[in-house]
This record gives sequence, structure tokens and C-alpha cells, in this order.
Amino acid sequence: MPPFSKTPLNIVRRVAERGEYDRKAIYEIVDDALLCHVGFVADAQPFVISSFHSRSRHTILLHGAKASRLLKHVKEGHPVCITCTHLNGLVMARSVFHHSMNYRSAVLFGHGHAIEDEDEKMHAFQVLTDHIMPGRWKEARHPNAKEMNATTLVRVSIDSASAKTRSGPVGDDEEDYMLPVWAGVLPVERRFLDPQEDARLASGVDVPEYIRSYHRGKRNEVGA
Ligand SMILES: Cc1cc2nc3c(=O)[nH]c(=O)nc-3n(C[C@H](O)[C@H](O)[C@H](O)COP(=O)(O)OP(=O)(O)OC[C@H]3O[C@@H](n4cnc5c(N)ncnc54)[C@H](O)[C@@H]3O)c2cc1C
Repeated sequence: MPPFSKTPLNIVRRVAERGEYDRKAIYEIVDDALLCHVGFVADAQPFVISSFHSRSRHTILLHGAKASRLLKHVKEGHPVCITCTHLNGLVMARSVFHHSMNYRSAVLFGHGHAIEDEDEKMHAFQVLTDHIMPGRWKEARHPNAKEMNATTLVRVSIDSASAKTRSGPVGDDEEDYMLPVWAGVLPVERRFLDPQEDARLASGVDVPEYIRSYHRGKRNEVGA
């Protein structure tokens, strides 16, 4: 997969060496994320809306209610910007100025269109479902005609993108290393707790293995 071209749209300017344009690295950040933020401008007003997403090859799938302003905007083909962020650690420097965070984030630019074909729509539902919980599509009831009709699914081309990553220890000014101030990284880890079964669960239904063993993406490296 060729990297994304560096253009005035996607080039990382501040601490440029943290920028990455490799598709695999960018797609890993997108795929590990459960949540994205979709930015768009409507009537000269910027909006940034939280959404769940899935990547399908070089596109992002989004879905929601037919009445959703975001989805109406996307399917009309206007430009959108989608971001995914993972927080890995709080970086406590000796000086306030050098406090930072360890993170992986991706910013994607593209244009959308509606998915109209019924088979493609059903496939998009499957990809979105399995993005959140691999294995769920096989078990849960699939959308019926009424539910399909009530849902808009869109595909956003990933025309341009960049990733930015900070990892590693504190970077203080040389003269500050002697200060009697605690410095280091407080790692952040995403963790799923024990499943809580629904009060109306049909009898005899056990927690599936794919939920019992659910985890997502890379474990955060300590200090990374
Ligand atoms: C984790 C997460 C995942 C989500 N996944 C999806 C998804 O997959 N598909 C989907 O359609 N929606 C999703 N939502 C809801 C989404 O953020 C919007 O609320 C939804 O799209 C409603 O759109 P709308 O057209 O009604 O609102 P809009 O017309 O876009 O919004 C009207 C106004 O409502 C307020 N508003 C809208 N959404 C929010 C919000 N989330 N928080 C605070 N204020 C808000 C804003 O002021 C906005 O200007 C998700 C939200 C979260 C937090």
C-alpha cells in the first residue's frame, strides 16, 4: 500500500517527526478505535460529531438515523474530516511547559456517498457490527426491511490522511533535571470489565467466548 502523499492538507507541521503517512500505521489507529469524531461545515458553521465507524479497505463506513444532519451532509458528497485518538499516557515533566501526553491519533480527509444497494448496505451493517465486536454478526438478529429503511449508511473515501504519535519519556530542559519534582509517565490503559447480563436474558444463554475474551488493539506500552 503506498503511503499518503504529503500535501498542505495533511502535512504535520508541529514536531513534524511525529507525523506518519504510512497507510498501515494510520489504518491500525483507525481500526483500534471504537469512536471517531466527524468534522464538517454546514452553512458556514463547523460541527464535530461523535460517531462509531468502521474501515472497509480505503473507506470509512458510518451509519445512523435517516434524519441525521451529519449523514445527510456526508451523503451529499461534502468534504469531511474524521479523527481517531488513543490516549496512552500522561507525561509529567518537571516544568509545566513540558507536560505532555503519549498518544496515537489519525486525521482523515474525504468525501462521502450513500450506500443504496441493499446487499452492500447489509454488508456495511456487518462490517460495522464486527468492528465493534468481532463475532457479533453471527449471533445477533440481522436488520429487517423496516430497520434497513430507517438507517442511512455512508461510505467516506480516505483521500488523504496523517497520523501523529508521541511516545516515550519526559523531555525536560537540561537545567531542570536537578529539580526535586517527580517526573515520569502515568500510563493509561483501556480495559473492559466483566460483562453485566441483561435482566431479561433468555434462560440458558451463556456469555459468548468472543465477549468473555474481548480486547482491542495493542496494549499500551508503559511509558510509551
Ligand atoms: C460514542 C458515540 C457513538 C455514536 N455513534 C453514532 C453513530 O454511529 N451514528 C449516529 O448517527 N450517531 C451516533 N452517535 C450520536 C451522534 O453523536 C449524534 O448525536 C447523532 O448523529 C445525532 O445527529 P443529529 O443529526 O440528530 O444531530 P445534529 O443535528 O447533528 O446535532 C444537533 C445539535 O445537537 C447537539 N449534539 C448532537 N450530538 C451530540 C452529542 N453526541 N453530544 C452532545 N451534543 C450533541 C449539538 O449541539 C448539535 O449541533 C454517537 C455518539 C456517541 C457519543
